[in-house]
Amino acid sequence: MSDAAPSVGGSSLPEMDVGGRLDRLRPSLVELGLGGLLVTNITNVRYLSGFTGSAGSLWVDEQRAVLVTDGRYRDQAPDQVASVGTDVDVEIIGSGRPSPLGVLAGGVNRVGLEADSVSWAEVERLAGLITTAGGGDPVSTTGLVESLREVKDDGEVARIAAAAAIADAALVSVEALFVEGAVESDLATALDHAMRIGGSSDRAFETIVAAGPNGARPHARPGSRAMVDGDLVVRDFGAVIDGYRSDMTRSMRIGGTGSGPAADLLAVVLEAQAAGLAAVVDGVPASEVDKACRSVLLEAGLGEAFSHGTGHGVGLDIHEGPAVASTATGSLRSGQVVTVEPGAYVAGLGGVRWEDTVLVTDDGHRSLTGFPKAL
Ligand code: ZN
Ligand code: ZN
Repeated sequence: MSDAAPSVGGSSLPEMDVGGRLDRLRPSLVELGLGGLLVTNITNVRYLSGFTGSAGSLWVDEQRAVLVTDGRYRDQAPDQVASVGTDVDVEIIGSGRPSPLGVLAGGVNRVGLEADSVSWAEVERLAGLITTAGGGDPVSTTGLVESLREVKDDGEVARIAAAAAIADAALVSVEALFVEGAVESDLATALDHAMRIGGSSDRAFETIVAAGPNGARPHARPGSRAMVDGDLVVRDFGAVIDGYRSDMTRSMRIGGTGSGPAADLLAVVLEAQAAGLAAVVDGVPASEVDKACRSVLLEAGLGEAFSHGTGHGVGLDIHEGPAVASTATGSLRSGQVVTVEPGAYVAGLGGVRWEDTVLVTDDGHRSLTGFPKAL
């Protein structure tokens, strides 16, 4: 399902500063000595122009931004670009012959390409077009637009928060279905349906409902097993508003938390998540947030059981910068939206993960996901 249709919740939300994004990108072109940048990552194209189609690229240089798209989007593209704000200065041209890129890149010496999104074959094709048009060899770039996307404006945060609120409400509406005999895939479908009813244009990623032995795998897919009393269940899901995603995990135990090793696992991972959340603030090295979570689990003898990084940025993509991991080199900044999601996966016992999507602020964080985490 395309999310190109107008969203239910998006219209009343604060405007996003789409026009300012091109202005923030251009200094990096100057810095790298690029005569132009061809944006081919479709999410980056959307971020810079508002275009939500599935095929198109955006040429950006000092003076102009030109969306090159095919005939399918001839009517749609102008509407979409206009709908994100009146200050987005993007021209739209259809693809065809002569190649619009050849015309745009004619005589431009250093044309930047996005190394993470073009194939080798595409580089060769584009290089041919550019040199035929009198330009020089293209230049590899990485992360120019992605780094801009890491810090969200108020309109973006409002959309992620709206998606998170839909996901919260979806879990409220299906929580009573998590009982003995319930089937993972049925409950995943129920969550997806509740999010769509709530106004989500899609699910943010493939919903995870993983119980018992399946829950002991961090990226389990919902299966057909019926849940039994005492199963630990991982529920990881999110909604989408105007392309912006939310991400939340709530774990629970069928029949109630009770006591014993499974109950202890729920509690200690929750404690690890609280430690991670408490570390989130503008300026903190992202690796410190990971360390805060990890040290609680290490202390509990669950270092090996926490087999993934602590979190990731969330926005137009479900996984984007910054990474919150032991190997991360950067520091968190106000306006970034990240997850904090420690987990522990123990064969024979099951899995537990707690995850919130939070906005980094000057004095800590604001959680955008809100479903209660009481045990
Ligand atoms: Zn998640
Ligand atoms: Zn996540």
